Amino acid sequence: MSVVTCEIHGAVAHVVIDNPPVNALSQQVRAGLAAACSDIARQKDVRAVVLSCAGRSFVAGADIRELGQTPQEPFLPDVLALIENAAVPWVAAVHGTALGGGLELAMACHGRVASTSAKLGLPEVSLGIIPGSGGTVRLPRLVSMDDAVQLVTTGKPVAAQAAKTMGLVDRLCAEDVVKEAESLAHELAGKGVPQPTRARPLVAGPPVDWMAWEAELRKRSRGAVAPLEALGALRDAQSLGVVEALSAERERFLRLAASEEAAALRHIFFAERGAGQGLKTAQAEPADLSRVGVIGGGTMGAGIATALLLAGSQVHLVERDASAAETAGARVADTIAGSLKRGVISQDKADAALAALGTGQDYAALAGCPLVIEAVFEDLDVKREVFNKLDAVMPDDAVLATNTSYLDVNRLAETTRDPSRILGLHFFSPAHVMKLLEVVRGDATGARALATGAALAKRLRKVPVVAGVCDGFIGNRIMAAYRRDCEFMLEEGALPQQIDAAMEGFGFAMGLYKVQDMSGLDIAWAQRKARAATRPADERYARIADNLCEAGRLGRKGKGWYDYASGTAVPDPEVEKIIFAESARAGRTRRDFTPEEIMQRILSVMQAEGQAILNEGIAESAADIDVVMVLGYGFPRHKGGPMFMARA
Ligand code: NAD
Repeated sequence: MSVVTCEIHGAVAHVVIDNPPVNALSQQVRAGLAAACSDIARQKDVRAVVLSCAGRSFVAGADIRELGQTPQEPFLPDVLALIENAAVPWVAAVHGTALGGGLELAMACHGRVASTSAKLGLPEVSLGIIPGSGGTVRLPRLVSMDDAVQLVTTGKPVAAQAAKTMGLVDRLCAEDVVKEAESLAHELAGKGVPQPTRARPLVAGPPVDWMAWEAELRKRSRGAVAPLEALGALRDAQSLGVVEALSAERERFLRLAASEEAAALRHIFFAERGAGQGLKTAQAEPADLSRVGVIGGGTMGAGIATALLLAGSQVHLVERDASAAETAGARVADTIAGSLKRGVISQDKADAALAALGTGQDYAALAGCPLVIEAVFEDLDVKREVFNKLDAVMPDDAVLATNTSYLDVNRLAETTRDPSRILGLHFFSPAHVMKLLEVVRGDATGARALATGAALAKRLRKVPVVAGVCDGFIGNRIMAAYRRDCEFMLEEGALPQQIDAAMEGFGFAMGLYKVQDMSGLDIAWAQRKARAATRPADERYARIADNLCEAGRLGRKGKGWYDYASGTAVPDPEVEKIIFAESARAGRTRRDFTPEEIMQRILSVMQAEGQAILNEGIAESAADIDVVMVLGYGFPRHKGGPMFMARA
């Protein structure tokens, strides 16, 4: 069947794209649209055209698989020019999403009708490119330049109502969007030969402060170039003639499409979608997730409960005693209030979430929860006791999960009569925000437990990555490895602020030492102390972090790697003294490190540990490791992840 059909009903031609799942603008679709243009030009009775899509959405973008390849004719800019220069008006009927090339297509039409639930956007920068088919030239002829800059440089889609307000669509329609488009098409037909969007003047508005935008984007994009190129294209649209601006845009697009940044972003795009392969094969019925138990309502437990509540589950949260349960309930309420304040959720949703939360101290109350997630202190004995108690009260088919960061899931599973129902569900903080979920498969973890992990990730809209059991699973193990090497660098001559600056210069949102100060240094300190007894005598060990903690510097709440008295992280001579003393004690002659050398060392440690994780079968693929580092540890997305960089 053809992916583009053209049916003529009286004076109106209906062009329908049907290219599941999201009507991507593949070569066949472009060819189909070009053919429809020629067909319609031959039909003298046709006075207007309605362009719509079958399925759940309008065109959601280019065919990403074609992006890294040599472009195949017909090219989208040429197809859009055919539509735009047609003798009769084309009206796009947008439902679902019109993204990227999809929105460029709609903008090349002479009118746009959108369903009230539609979303429209130009997310190209998230793939390291910019609109390449006239999007940056046509957009500021429909919306103000400020709105255009916002849309193109952030890549964030807007809802139909906002699109209507800014002028991107002409009409909204709650029901039959094709019918409404037909009516607009008739009106436009009555006005003679339609004016191409590109022939319209730029929308008048206050002058854009290009310098301010550039400074802002440089800060925000952390080294990614596509947002700045997008800004440049819009500036061209203002300062050049239409033909020159179109060709300058195409040149930028083709150059970016072939760039390392675009390859990295495409890699991570597909890696996210392909993550959690081992879960896809788990042939079992997952536990019902409409009611979930959570044990421990501290930072993580409260975040996990919030995530579940916002996804529509009922949650019963168990704490150590009545007063801890009350505090945990208040913590969840605070987190939900925070989401409400940031405008992420509506008042109704916040009310419904709070009403679905129960708290208490009685484990028996968890018996009606098909899944229970434990997030108590990171202590094997405490957690084993929790699993013992759960084993006594939970029905046989309940799935029991631990949010442990480092502990041995197999040893926890031993404490229960059926270890096949135990798995690790390692959330990241804040758990209601972070997109990553490490699903830890113990030696005995069964298909139902894995299927439940997969179903939970889907319900919470998280990206699941399967990890085997080892100290720290995928992410924390890699972090522990490079953290150790960074301390060696401190001992050898680097300073915390130099390591942080090198990482931030590379594109991390925050350097390692600022992150450590933010999370607090005490937990890692306790872990190092617990492991001291089993550490091989000949293993290199840097004592700087221990000495810092012994000096009472435990992180951001007081002092840590930095001094926070002024409200921001300021390098502290006291810390340098501790570092210098330790270099001398270890007999190291301090030397200078360049930012490149620091980053090179961090990357090679990440890559070596990642390779070891792969060799041991802890991760399912190198791409999964990249997903973990990008989504969980602030690795810059536009670099694609450490394993991608190793291959490149
Ligand atoms: P936390 O100290 O903030 O909270 C732990 C909570 O568990 C406390 O409220 C405590 O009262 C409760 N608790 C302790 N023993 C209990 C018991 N027997 N029954 C019921 N409740 C009990 O700790 P956290 O940071 O939320 O960490 C919890 C778990 O999540 C740990 O295993 C940790 O390693 C893991 N984790 C933490 C992070 C993080 O960034 N903080 C990230 C991922 C995983």
